[in-house]
Amino acid sequence: MTAERVTLTGVSKRYPGPDGDVEVLAPTDLTIEPGEFVCVVGPSGCGKSTLLNILAGFLPPSGGEVRVGGRVVDGPDPDRGVVFQQATLYPWLSVRRNVEFGPKVRGVDRKTRRAQADRLLELVGLEQLAERKPYELSGGQQQRAQIARVLVNDPGIVLMDEPFGALDALTRERLQRELRTLWRDRRKTVLFVTHGIEEAVLLGTRVLVMGAGPGRVVHDVTPTFKDDVGPDFADIRAHPEFGALRDELARHIYAAHA
Ligand code: ADP
Ligand code: MG
Repeated sequence: MTAERVTLTGVSKRYPGPDGDVEVLAPTDLTIEPGEFVCVVGPSGCGKSTLLNILAGFLPPSGGEVRVGGRVVDGPDPDRGVVFQQATLYPWLSVRRNVEFGPKVRGVDRKTRRAQADRLLELVGLEQLAERKPYELSGGQQQRAQIARVLVNDPGIVLMDEPFGALDALTRERLQRELRTLWRDRRKTVLFVTHGIEEAVLLGTRVLVMGAGPGRVVHDVTPTFKDDVGPDFADIRAHPEFGALRDELARHIYAAHA
């Protein structure tokens, strides 16, 4: 599906607390254009997951509304795929059947969904492991399967909540590269929550910093210097503005923490 514009208008979230409601997300206005790769960084507890879950349609906002292509989000939709830190694969199904599950639920016939699943498994490099069960995969392979499981629905928007947070550094960097390539080739809109500042600068076409008390977007930057160097992470890291932007973001995060 083609990605559509996402607009948040006055989106807020309150939870009931012992001393009355606690505002965890202050009224937030935000527009995300189709094809943007938006990274969200900020201290733990500042509302990143809350924001993502509202966009996914898992959580209703307490105020305001989210629209995708003009339609109000009022629940989950296969056009918005969600990837969490821990892969949520069905342990009793093979990797292939996990990937086929979404199309099956949507009534796609057996042959078509098998072909769709195999194409995605190839794309994420799991074609040899299609018959395995999730527990027979490494953490990185499970996250690949999870990404295939989401992309098989051809969502316009992919929402990722610290998807590589539990992986070792080498596997993480490999999946970061793969995700970047997938995004470039398939023109998805990505919202990517991370607490890794470097990860945000490497991957994002835009980086939002959130602050706490109540959660809100305190900084919104577009790392335009990456246009000079292309997609190679080593080239991005070597650019003089890389370190400067990383430090700038860190300052905003610490300020938001205080
Ligand atoms: P982050 O993902 O940035 O770490 P979250 O969005 O998970 O932050 O949480 C933001 C704040 O909302 C935290 O203070 C958290 O304790 C609180 N919170 C999250 N879910 C609930 C809930 N269901 N009920 C009450 N408070 C919650
Ligand atoms: Mg979180």
